[in-house]
Amino acid sequence: MNIIVLIKQVPDTNEVRIDPETKTLIRQGVPSIVNPEDKNAIEEALRLKETVGGKVTVVTMGPPQADVALREAMAMGVDESYLLTDRFFAGADTYATAKTLSTAIRHLFPDFDIVLCGRQAIDGDTAQVGPQTAEQLGIPQVTYVSRIEVNDTRLLVSRVIEDGYEVIEVGMPALLTIVKEANKPRYPSIKRIFEAYNAEVRSVGINDLGLDGNEVGLKGSPTKVVSTETPDTHRSGEVFSGNPKECADLLIQRLKIRHLI
Ligand SMILES: Cc1cc2nc3c(=O)[nH]c(=O)nc-3n(C[C@H](O)[C@H](O)[C@H](O)COP(=O)(O)OP(=O)(O)OC[C@H]3O[C@@H](n4cnc5c(N)ncnc54)[C@H](O)[C@@H]3O)c2cc1C
Repeated sequence: MNIIVLIKQVPDTNEVRIDPETKTLIRQGVPSIVNPEDKNAIEEALRLKETVGGKVTVVTMGPPQADVALREAMAMGVDESYLLTDRFFAGADTYATAKTLSTAIRHLFPDFDIVLCGRQAIDGDTAQVGPQTAEQLGIPQVTYVSRIEVNDTRLLVSRVIEDGYEVIEVGMPALLTIVKEANKPRYPSIKRIFEAYNAEVRSVGINDLGLDGNEVGLKGSPTKVVSTETPDTHRSGEVFSGNPKECADLLIQRLKIRHLI
């Protein structure tokens, strides 16, 4: 089985702070990590390979330093990795990102069986890239997948919904987006980490994919960000004074006025 996993390198949002003056993100010193649900997608791909055999390839579109994310995936046990990197790819919105990823999949892996993505990236947070990539590839997609079973040429997948699971049968090739409930990603061994840092990461540019500069990156992005702002997090607090019973009565009164109780 030929399994492709799309991963994104993201800033560790636990470490991101907002500059109170400029209201922009402070990026300096913020470590980059593999998007958490992409690690669940990698783990799911490795388990599929262990069950039915085949090959797992990871692909990311990003700047040259995103190769660190690919090496982390290789340390987990992935066979091959591709970095789609070119100045023409910069400034892509989700549509242009999916355009580049889907073109690369068609071009580099014409006989792919499954594409796995994380459900959502923790920085952009749109959850659009997986579904858009499936649309541009013209293949079926199942989102929010927590379990995959291979049944000959078809897949039986469980999909998390608000009050339970849906079980869906889908033909291959298909694209699935994986949720964190699917598994616990494995830790790489020290040996694998060393091997991954000596392994080849294949670099792919716009010319390798036969794409035009107007179709990708900022030029190929229909979304235009007009402005961004940070919500004001200051709250007007009220401090009650009096004995505990008086304070509790006042609190109940305030909550009733706002119809909260
Ligand atoms: C107008 C505009 C301009 C932008 N300019 C820039 C810019 O200059 N630089 C910049 O870094 N971002 C830019 N972005 C953000 C960029 O579009 C998104 O970060 C990117 O498309 C992924 O979307 P997301 O983070 O919402 O991912 P989601 O859709 O939430 O990701 C879902 C899954 O898709 C896969 N995936 C997502 N992105 C990638 C990727 N790059 N490679 C492989 N797999 C992936 C992963 O499996 C991920 O878990 C811009 C966005 C807009 C709207």
